[in-house]
Amino acid sequence: MALKETGSRTILASARLRRIIAVAVGVALVWATLITLLGVWRHDHVTQRHLSQATMDAKLMARANARVLGQRFETLRTIASMLSSQERLGRAAYGFNTMSSQTPNENWGDLLSNGELVLLSQDFANMAHELGIDDIFLTNPEGYVIAASDWGSDLTHLEESFGEAVHFRTAIESGEGEQYGVDTVNGLPRFFFSARVAQGAQVQGLVTIATSSDRIVPLLQRGGEDILLTDPFGIVVASNNKDWMYRAVDDADLKDMEAIPLGLRYGRSDFLPLPASVQAETAEDVIAAGSVHASVVEEDFSSHVVVPVDELVELRRANLIMMIGLIVFGVLLVAVVALALAQIAAIRERAIRDSLTGLYNRRYVDESLPGLIELDERGRLAGLALVAFDLDKFKGINDTWGHDVGDKALRRFAQILADCARRTDLPCRIGGEEFVAFLVEQDLDGVSIFAERVRARVAAIDDLPPIPAGRITTSAGVVMRRPGEGLEEMLKRADALLYQAKNSGRNRIEREDQISDVLQEDATD
Ligand code: GH3
Ligand code: MG
Ligand code: MG
Repeated sequence: MALKETGSRTILASARLRRIIAVAVGVALVWATLITLLGVWRHDHVTQRHLSQATMDAKLMARANARVLGQRFETLRTIASMLSSQERLGRAAYGFNTMSSQTPNENWGDLLSNGELVLLSQDFANMAHELGIDDIFLTNPEGYVIAASDWGSDLTHLEESFGEAVHFRTAIESGEGEQYGVDTVNGLPRFFFSARVAQGAQVQGLVTIATSSDRIVPLLQRGGEDILLTDPFGIVVASNNKDWMYRAVDDADLKDMEAIPLGLRYGRSDFLPLPASVQAETAEDVIAAGSVHASVVEEDFSSHVVVPVDELVELRRANLIMMIGLIVFGVLLVAVVALALAQIAAIRERAIRDSLTGLYNRRYVDESLPGLIELDERGRLAGLALVAFDLDKFKGINDTWGHDVGDKALRRFAQILADCARRTDLPCRIGGEEFVAFLVEQDLDGVSIFAERVRARVAAIDDLPPIPAGRITTSAGVVMRRPGEGLEEMLKRADALLYQAKNSGRNRIEREDQISDVLQEDATD
């Protein structure tokens, strides 16, 4: 309760301030740590939840796409097969085959203007339009196109040959064949489905239907995702994103393709790998790539879906901003509260301190003594002692050297009082040149040592010119609190002893056990 830095209220105030700052910094650090931990947990949680949701979405879409595509391919196979069984096709092919065997190859084109084949081409065109497929062709057993739905166009397949194509060869051998490839005439990516056309037991040719990947993709896409279809070798053969086309998935088995003329099939012989985003495995790779990838492998194709996860980056940024916001808010709040507390502490400090010496003032004594007295009353203190000091002949100092010099002497006295006090002691200035100190002491001996030390150090002041050495002295009265006694009674008894000290020549200490009973009774009256 005492203070060492008498005369330096700034130090006192700053000690209190330091405590407030220390607590505030502590609270702010704990807050920032908690929010950071929470933020990191939330970051992971958001990432995990968002990625698993995106992965699940991608998987569901890939599966749905595989189903749609499977059905579509089945339909196309059925169409090819139904066409191949039409008698009319067998007849037309038979007719061409018979005629062509007697005609030089370079003149075969003339045979195609025969009425039946032209009509067939026209019917193919109508049919292709109605079925939403790109082209229908009829070829002879060597792959030479004799009727085509694109018969009227500049890039007609008429007179082209599919003889080298996989779908053609397998269909000739086994009745049905299909493949993905690049159309030899227009260079567009297409799916081809072929079926053998017969007349009686004789193979007369092949009917092929072709559908472009551009027609397939709209059946599959649902939103912002990228869709990819890869052929059995792992090469992207259809996608809404042109950048993916003809790339090969990581484990693409391109060696198997050597058996097939690559140039014919895809118009190229090397295939770029898919970008890292499709191959990414760890969460961080996925986020860096900006998408998750899921695939479903079927017998004749694989369905892949790439779902963007850019929303996650936003979510993570929002989390970070929230974290920083909460930390800043908390720290500001703590700072504001700390400032307010410091302000309150400073106001309180001013209210309980004497402005000249920095010692506690009478108000503080009045406020804090009841608590101390109660502790003493309950036997929680070893004992409560009071020393009352009054500077000797102080008026003379003021009169001789002026008020300022008097003030200096008062400050020095306060300094000595504070220096001699322990942390548990309470030195106060209660009047002009009147000071008291409350000490927790068992008996008068201990208190007297303190009072005597103060008296001696005051009497030894020799460095306050123009006051001569030894001119400043103090008298004091020392009492122990008696049971049931309050502040006023204690002060009254101490004052009586002080009066006694003055009468006995000043610059001395009087303790209650060393004066006569008569005097003591006088004092307590
Ligand atoms: P005694 O030994 O009997 O105590 O003599 P004294 O001169 O000290 O007598 P008294 O206690 O009556 O005088 C107190 C003087 O202290 C009166 C006043 O001028 C002076 N004083 C009181 N407050 C202050 C202060 O704040 N500054 C200064 N410089 N002097 C003060
Ligand atoms: Mg006085
Ligand atoms: Mg005096």
